[in-house]
Amino acid sequence: MCNVDNWTFFSLITTVRLIPHNSSAVSARIPTEGRVEIFLNGIWGTICDDWFDIKDAHVICKMLKFPRALAAVNRGMFGEGTDQIWFDDLHCHGNESSIFRCRHSGVGIHNCHHYEDVGVICQDNASLPEQRGILKNISQLNGVQTKKIGSSIQVSHASQ
Ligand code: CA
Ligand code: CA
Repeated sequence: MCNVDNWTFFSLITTVRLIPHNSSAVSARIPTEGRVEIFLNGIWGTICDDWFDIKDAHVICKMLKFPRALAAVNRGMFGEGTDQIWFDDLHCHGNESSIFRCRHSGVGIHNCHHYEDVGVICQDNASLPEQRGILKNISQLNGVQTKKIGSSIQVSHASQ
């Protein structure tokens, strides 16, 4: 398991997205609510709801340039992911710049199922100029071929 300093680097080149329930439309803006997915190792993965609360949701909303979270949503209420579960037992204080700075069980280490995937509802007055940069980044990542590299955690750069 890596310490916080080691993960600071990863937090700069990974990203988070929200998948609204029953939505197939590609939005021109970031949804304010949805299942949380984190891009790591070329794969969009989810977060388990063990110990997930509003403080963790605040950090995710702020990563997406929303001011704060209104709710942390547990038990797969925003639908279930299909691939990796990247985070479990997330313990954020709420003021971290990234969930990679929060205490957790270790990336990819969990005792969960996808019916435990978390979602968030974020307060809907975002910094729109900053969100445009995130949207561009997410759309680039969506085009990245997903591949697993053994059991190791390697982060795909959006610029590669
Ligand atoms: Ca927590
Ligand atoms: Ca757990």
